[in-house]
Amino acid sequence: MEKKVFLCGFHQETASFNPIPTTWEKYQRRSGGVGEQLIANVRKGGAARESAYGAILGAMLDEAEKRGFQVIGGMDIGAYSGGAVEQSVVDRYLEENLALLKAALPVDAVLVGLHGATQSSASNDVCGDILTAIREVVGETTVIGASCDLHANVTEKMMRAADYISGYQTYPHLDFDSTGHRAAVLALDKVEGKGAKMAWVTLPQMAPAHGYTTEKGGLKALMDKGHAMVSAGEIRDFSVFQVQPWLDVDKPGSAILVAADTEEKAIAVAADLARDEFALREELQGPKLWTMAETVQAAIDNTEDKPVVLVDSSDSPGAGSPGDSAEVLRYLLPHRDTLRAAVTVVDAPAVAKAFALGVGGKADFMLGGTVSPELSAPVEVTDCVVKSLHSGEFVLEGPASRGAKGNMGRAAVLQAGQLLILVNHAGGNCKDPQFYRSAGIEPTLCRLVDVKACTSFRAAYEPISALICNTITPGAAGVELTTLPFKNIPKPFYPFAEITEDMIGAPVCLR
Ligand SMILES: [Zn+2]
Repeated sequence: MEKKVFLCGFHQETASFNPIPTTWEKYQRRSGGVGEQLIANVRKGGAARESAYGAILGAMLDEAEKRGFQVIGGMDIGAYSGGAVEQSVVDRYLEENLALLKAALPVDAVLVGLHGATQSSASNDVCGDILTAIREVVGETTVIGASCDLHANVTEKMMRAADYISGYQTYPHLDFDSTGHRAAVLALDKVEGKGAKMAWVTLPQMAPAHGYTTEKGGLKALMDKGHAMVSAGEIRDFSVFQVQPWLDVDKPGSAILVAADTEEKAIAVAADLARDEFALREELQGPKLWTMAETVQAAIDNTEDKPVVLVDSSDSPGAGSPGDSAEVLRYLLPHRDTLRAAVTVVDAPAVAKAFALGVGGKADFMLGGTVSPELSAPVEVTDCVVKSLHSGEFVLEGPASRGAKGNMGRAAVLQAGQLLILVNHAGGNCKDPQFYRSAGIEPTLCRLVDVKACTSFRAAYEPISALICNTITPGAAGVELTTLPFKNIPKPFYPFAEITEDMIGAPVCLR
């Protein structure tokens, strides 16, 4: 009988300090599809294949079909990073997806695309809940393979339910295809009688997402070490997770996963990589942080023909913040007549006002603090001219997700002296230079560019910038972790307290 795979996904990265709940309506915007439509959407050339999550599920589909499996589409839904998910969304997803799964039984494997750091109004471990619910439906012998973001919080509950989890090995995230492929290979190999053992270990440490990349430094060396062991045939797969640092849950942790032919080997390598990860804890906290005044001064002093990037990562929509802070503007206003700068603010009322005024219209604007007034205060900008109006749709230049569609909602460019202020409805994908370029703002012709992203922007912005300044700004994804209002994290936990090597858990194979 033809072997069967069930394919589904649930995606969202939660920022616990963003008070705005993530609703079913927000989940509709990034849905990969349901049933046969999901399969069509993630297949090469399909409507969702260019998106990150579509690429992951598409790679799973390709691998399963290559091996002659019949693939049955479940439900794939996702929302942009933001506040905790309403539990009703999770309940509805489980109800509809599990009904599809039950109808497809028996299946040999379930392949699931997850983010891995998702909190709901009722649960700190939504991905653990989803994997457990799937396990209860399929029983013990069906193989479950999942993909996760590098920023997942990989819990014991997840590892008890899933046979395998593979995480992104790049940050900025560029390896959606290969992550889906790796998860599928591990799971389908097991179905075909060549199963690996997967060891899991967590560390009581986290780091702000601006602090590291896999393109240089200690984290690159750690990834290179894992890749070399895979290439040498010593292990089958590995993942190094840096838990998303704005997740305020009771069981957080960075984690290492290693798949090998034997339990003994998987555990030994996981322990070794965990010691390396522990040794990196200080380095991962990142480069010097700049105050807003220092960054603005650096832009004034900059003599290169390229801009200074003010990294406003505390208000990064990609990290789950609303993107509605105008705090950077507050510091730029004294220089409005001399410093050409590009700034972005999520501000729907300002967009509506600009559309009402029309191009060339002039008015004073109160900007910022419209979504989450508890996180940042509005800033008054006098004598703004409406320079242009936009639909907000654009195409990403990448390198990540090149060619995929971005959408900031209706948007307007307000000009105040030399300041170009891009007001919009949703600041997602502002990591991509096309965010500004699509609105007629050329970043390389500015002396300062405000980028609300953690690290994802670096791939595109590093080559076109004079200096990148990780700047202390307000927001739900604050760069100074020790100043954030964590309530649930157990102590000791780094960087809130020093930790010692004996606090690393013992690696275990739970399946
Ligand atoms: Zn991530």
